[in-house]
Amino acid sequence: MALFPESLENLINALSALPGVGIKSAERLAFYLLSCPPDKAARLSEAITRARDKITRCRVCQNLSEDEVCALCASETRDKTAVCVVQDPKGVIAIERSREYNGLYHVLHGALSPTAGVSPRDLTIEELLTRVSAEGSAIEEVILATNPDVEGETTANYITGLLKPAGARVTRLARGIPVGGSLEFLDDRTLGRALEGRS
Ligand SMILES: [Zn+2]
Repeated sequence: MALFPESLENLINALSALPGVGIKSAERLAFYLLSCPPDKAARLSEAITRARDKITRCRVCQNLSEDEVCALCASETRDKTAVCVVQDPKGVIAIERSREYNGLYHVLHGALSPTAGVSPRDLTIEELLTRVSAEGSAIEEVILATNPDVEGETTANYITGLLKPAGARVTRLARGIPVGGSLEFLDDRTLGRALEGRS
């Protein structure tokens, strides 16, 4: 016999499928959602549906956007000769917060990992190559800002191998980023220095 009514069981299962949410937390959240005012639960449900409906990927940089071309790519004041390659949208936010960079971005949406079954086709590497090698492309420098862990390094090396023949200058963030760390957890000054000292 099931412990909970079916709809509650479904809610708990859906919540526990979220990253970082164990079964106990999922149960706690589900009970909270059942006990809170109905409009509060409805707002959460609407926010999820709305975000899923509205958010797409920018055609140029692949970052999350509500428009076909995101605000950063559409901006007239950004330096169009530099592209900073990050693993995920959180990387864009981390680098923007450092205020040391005024170029464009490219979001890979992951990193290569043979063990997790992530291959180049699962990332937006093809889109990056097309961007850099497109006729009339203004891109002169590609800054690889993947995370300083095994997957990030593997991804950066792979992309370097593909971009070098395309003639683009490829740089990496300077050392000083703790190994195994993730860009989003760096303080703005460390990230700023790593950007300045890129080589
Ligand atoms: Zn964009």
